[in-house]
Amino acid sequence: MADEFLESLLATPGTSGFEQDVQEVVRDFSRGFAHSVDTDVHGNLIAAVNPEGGRRILLDAHCDQIGLIVRHIDDKGFIRVSAVGGWDMQILLGQKMLVHTTGGSIPGVIARKPIHLLNETERKTVPKIHDLWIDIGSASADETSALVDIGDSVTPQPSLTKLMNGRISGVAMDDRTGIWVIMTALKMISEQSPKAAVFAVSAVQEEIGLRGAQTSAYNVNPEVAIAVDVTHATDCPGIDQNQFGNIRIGGGPVVVRGANANPRVVDLLLKTAARHDIDVQINALGRPASNDGAAIQVSRGGCAAGLVTLPNRYMHSPVEVVAESDLEQSARLLAQFCLAVGEDTSFIP
Ligand SMILES: [Zn+2]
Repeated sequence: MADEFLESLLATPGTSGFEQDVQEVVRDFSRGFAHSVDTDVHGNLIAAVNPEGGRRILLDAHCDQIGLIVRHIDDKGFIRVSAVGGWDMQILLGQKMLVHTTGGSIPGVIARKPIHLLNETERKTVPKIHDLWIDIGSASADETSALVDIGDSVTPQPSLTKLMNGRISGVAMDDRTGIWVIMTALKMISEQSPKAAVFAVSAVQEEIGLRGAQTSAYNVNPEVAIAVDVTHATDCPGIDQNQFGNIRIGGGPVVVRGANANPRVVDLLLKTAARHDIDVQINALGRPASNDGAAIQVSRGGCAAGLVTLPNRYMHSPVEVVAESDLEQSARLLAQFCLAVGEDTSFIP
């Protein structure tokens, strides 16, 4: 797989909190089959199939990614940054980055002192974000300031590496893979005759507080919604399954059970999976999800929310790994779920 749409999504950095470059990729893809494609003032892209249909279903994934923002240019011309979203400092060190300026994207590297020059304490300490700098090769503060402005955004350089067994690795699998799933599902739905109105939203600003989900769910006003995001695969070294459950990469879409998931939505997801020979995994969550599903469930007067998540290794690193088969099966599951919603389907828990 890794089709052209997925490759374009992964090759486009989500910058500035509004991610309009990513939305352009989504717009190009969805224009071919959606009955309407709109962008709201917050930056969310909303593609609809059968928008006048009976029941209103929202499919959500987020288009933003974790990154950095330029805070200060120091007197030697190095760029000092703040985090946008949850970074592991030990992973950020040594990465190749892009600084997104008004004049275009400039490559740079995240650096610290070499190990030879670190004292005993420094070697044992994880650096703070303000200890790091980005080196763009500039020789002075003036040279950097001529190109880079305070508030410019910074992301890792996009990458996509194909691994064995249909697994792929790269930057921002969280949550471009989710965007791929909901938009591919919407395309499948457009080729059938859905009774429901289906809205697929590429939502902004999930990583800084589920903000695009709040505004887009209000605008779409759905009765039922499925949020698609990545979840931790627990089948790699060092993760305790007693604590985090047994989630396998390549094991299929992960359907969440718990208070953030309407039981009737869960039921319909599981029945749909069984009917269409889709292997699913179940995850349990005793609190609201840390993704868009949490915001959507309590939008307006409430919404019957479901969470379909994609097994992901090394989340929030530039080498996140997913299995292509999990994406394909998730898109099928979402499409068949939407097609199964009829006039008399009840979502009262
Ligand atoms: Zn995410």
